[in-house]
Amino acid sequence: MRMVLLGAPGAGKGTQASVIADQNGVAHVASGDLFRKHLGEGTDLGKLAKTFMDKGDLVPDDVTVKMVLERIAEPDAAGGYVLDGFPRTGAQAEALDAALVSAGQVLDIAPLIEVDTEELVRRLAGRWICRVCQIPYHEITAPPKQTGVCDKDGGELYQRDDDKAEVVRARLQTYQALTAPLIDYYEGQSKLVRVNGQQDVEKVTADLLAAVSASAVS
Ligand code: ADP
Ligand code: AMP
Repeated sequence: MRMVLLGAPGAGKGTQASVIADQNGVAHVASGDLFRKHLGEGTDLGKLAKTFMDKGDLVPDDVTVKMVLERIAEPDAAGGYVLDGFPRTGAQAEALDAALVSAGQVLDIAPLIEVDTEELVRRLAGRWICRVCQIPYHEITAPPKQTGVCDKDGGELYQRDDDKAEVVRARLQTYQALTAPLIDYYEGQSKLVRVNGQQDVEKVTADLLAAVSASAVS
């Protein structure tokens, strides 16, 4: 299975991608997580990415495309992947399509998780992320069993600098201007499926899996 999970910041892409990738035995590839890993390791790419991430801007296409295409060429992604946060521009989507063509592969589906802006802001303000596995929690809607500690691996939970209200505003504007046009792009390829993201996490997962099954049949 090869999936591009679309949706605004806070729509629930990371939450859903991790479950769907686990259930289907494919790789979960999140461009934001890859940048944060570089940042944590203090690489040149991490330092460059931080200058854009701190402002809610996108990291330039050339470095982003190179990083993600190298990641999906790794052995654990050979059987498929769920892409989370990539592509985010028309140029990135075209680069992904070109890579798929040269590998003789096809993208199966591009679900869009739809959530209204007020709810996105609420979700990002209460988001906590595990330093070890990157799984997101929410202090109200999806709290960990023990405050500040990941249920899965005991990792420390932290709040992202770019989840501050002023950066969130910029990220939502960036999404509207540069990423929302991909909805038409994937609709044009008959890959787009809209899923209501304002339901319980489990219901959203069920709807996404139903969409995957339906796309495999058609
Ligand atoms: P994205 O990867 O799209 O930015 P996340 O998966 O990190 O979004 O989710 C953003 C926040 O919303 C997290 O705090 C997460 O726990 C919470 N969340 C995700 N899905 C739901 C949902 N269906 N209902 C309520 N809260 C959710
Ligand atoms: P995310 O974790 O998906 O919310 O991404 C966090 C930040 O990383 C974004 O606000 C961007 O600055 C950067 N980023 C992540 N993915 C991409 C991408 N595909 N293209 C450009 N920048 C990205």
